[in-house]
Amino acid sequence: MGRVLEVTELRKQFGGIHAVDGVSFHVDEGEILGIIGPNGCGKSTLFNCILGQLRPSGGEVKLDGRPVTGLYPAALNRLGVSRTFQLLQVFPQLSVRENLILAGQEHQGSMVSRLFGARDAGLTAQANRMIAFFRLEHLADEKAGGLSYGQQKLLDAAMAFMAGPRLVLLDEPAGGVNLTMLASLKERLRAINAELKATFVVIEHNMDFVMSLCSRVLVMAEGRVLATGTPAEVRANPAVVDAYLGH
Ligand code: ADP
Ligand code: MG
Repeated sequence: MGRVLEVTELRKQFGGIHAVDGVSFHVDEGEILGIIGPNGCGKSTLFNCILGQLRPSGGEVKLDGRPVTGLYPAALNRLGVSRTFQLLQVFPQLSVRENLILAGQEHQGSMVSRLFGARDAGLTAQANRMIAFFRLEHLADEKAGGLSYGQQKLLDAAMAFMAGPRLVLLDEPAGGVNLTMLASLKERLRAINAELKATFVVIEHNMDFVMSLCSRVLVMAEGRVLATGTPAEVRANPAVVDAYLGH
């Protein structure tokens, strides 16, 4: 099994704040890694440093064994890495299908073709496949702005999978989503992991969501890694219970 992502001693300082303070972890092919930790502990900054939205103050990021530290987001996208943001990034005036096509446009001819097993497959066909995958058929031609918040979060996640089939980083995909949509999102993410062999990292506040979705969990506190392990190991870790789960 290949190592898709390897992060070593990553650091990001904002003035005197050590937002990410020497974080090391890896993600293997086909894995779903969860990242949890209190608000402000550096989770989103970690994603921003990996994806090139921010330049790290130190440390290294490797994708499939190649150093990619400090590459711009577009360059990482071309290598098959994409993400969602904590806040929705859908275009409200465009339809669900148009949003998906747009998300895939920069990646035509890249890893997307390989994922879908058809080098010449059009983006529309790929968008339709994602629509079916995320059970959005009945909404495909609706404007994204008319969808419920939970449906928009599903679309947002689907867009990331259009663009980044090698590695997708999801920043709080379940944030603000109701229980029904939560179950649906979890089921879809599981299916995409199993059927498309997609590898992803999920930042999430909802503990049940993370613990039931992820194969491994990384717990952050104050910019550092407090613990990593299976959901069961993390739940039983006294330091984690003290710092986070006990609240
Ligand atoms: P999380 O996603 O875990 O809630 P963040 O990564 O958003 O945490 O924030 C980590 C710390 O870095 C916080 O103290 C936050 O205020 C600070 N921070 C995040 N982004 C910036 C920025 N662009 N400029 C200055 N400080 C920032
Ligand atoms: Mg965040």
